Amino acid sequence: MLSNSPTISRFSNLSDHHHLHRRSYNHHPLSHSPPPPPPPSHLRNPQTLRLRRNFQISAIDAAQPFDYESKISDRIAKSKSLKIAIVGFGNFGQFLAKTLVRQGHTVLAHSRTDYSAVASQLGVSFFSNADDLCEEHPEVILLCTSILSTDKVLRSLPLQRLKRSTLFVDVLSVKEFAKDLFLQILPLDFDILCTHPMFGPESGKNSWKDLPFVYDKVRIGDDEARVSRCEKFLDAFAKEGCIMKEMTCAEHDQHAAESQFITHTVGRILEKLNLDSTPINTKGYERLLDLVDNTSSDSFELYYGLFMYNKNAMEQLERLDLAFESLKKELFGHLHEALRKQLFGTGERYLGILPEAPVLSKLPPNGNGNGNGPAVPSQSDSTTS
Ligand code: NAP
Repeated sequence: MLSNSPTISRFSNLSDHHHLHRRSYNHHPLSHSPPPPPPPSHLRNPQTLRLRRNFQISAIDAAQPFDYESKISDRIAKSKSLKIAIVGFGNFGQFLAKTLVRQGHTVLAHSRTDYSAVASQLGVSFFSNADDLCEEHPEVILLCTSILSTDKVLRSLPLQRLKRSTLFVDVLSVKEFAKDLFLQILPLDFDILCTHPMFGPESGKNSWKDLPFVYDKVRIGDDEARVSRCEKFLDAFAKEGCIMKEMTCAEHDQHAAESQFITHTVGRILEKLNLDSTPINTKGYERLLDLVDNTSSDSFELYYGLFMYNKNAMEQLERLDLAFESLKKELFGHLHEALRKQLFGTGERYLGILPEAPVLSKLPPNGNGNGNGPAVPSQSDSTTS
């Protein structure tokens, strides 16, 4: 369904070939075509002749109305491409624009900051004014604003200037929030696709191959044009080799808190340690340094959004805290035991005075959704003697 068909390139090659062939036929000195009749006498002065020759060459090179191959090739290319307006042209918006432009989509952009210069370098038309952007009637509005500003930005868009059927897509790293906001603000005529590319300008700088792309078709109209518009948009990621994962926004948020939020939190904790490369880095340490690089290049606002707008994030933060405390207790418990042995000898163990060597059990799984707060350690977690 989402596979990349080679049809376009095949046709464009054919068309190129045809074009070249046509040119060589017309300019070939050994052509069997009869020579053109001499120009009428009033056109025979040298300048007019030169002009006429130039005109002839241009006319021959121009696409002919009966050139079906070039017409079909054009139609196929057009039918695969979309007019996409990126709202929020910061770090991530620009990152996505590069690939969308390369794929042949028409990309427009609007942002709070004036990004005209960077946009023109990327082949994107920038609109400082949201009314002007919407009057361009994009087929897709792609929201790439910060999580925290999305509500405000969405409410400020002049929706009445858009085509009645427009596809709204977001890339926010929290999905239930985005979905609720879209459903609340957007008129029923608009389609809604909630997505989260699980990569960014750092992790996806070389390729998107094998990187997960999560999506939830929240509201896509039944008619063929709407269904195909949504598929075309998804195809932009599928054809780059992304692993396409369809899941509900709620499922996404649960998984993302357990994985992405933990990753960002650990990265930011390590960043506070100002870790430096050493002459004896292990592979594991190199990976930690990479993690710091990866997470610190994202804005703090993004990280704060992951915490604020994912109801599962608080539980994960508390579990992390609990796990750290529990690990410290395990270490100190062992230390305590060693000191006791030094002070009192090993006899006490046989008298049953010392407890068993402390063992840290794993925290119970989170996310049971009962709203009872973070998991509480079992008795065996307690290592104090
Ligand atoms: P971000 O800090 O989350 O968002 C920056 C964008 O938000 C810029 O376009 C900025 O506009 C806009 N913005 C911030 N405050 C605003 C305000 N008060 N009013 C209007 N616009 C405001 O950084 P980001 O990395 O570009 O992320 C954008 C979105 O992509 C976020 O929702 C994030 O969750 C999602 N995402 C990011 C990544 C990633 O790796 N970075 C990956 C997947 C998804 P100006 O630049 O014009 O100020």
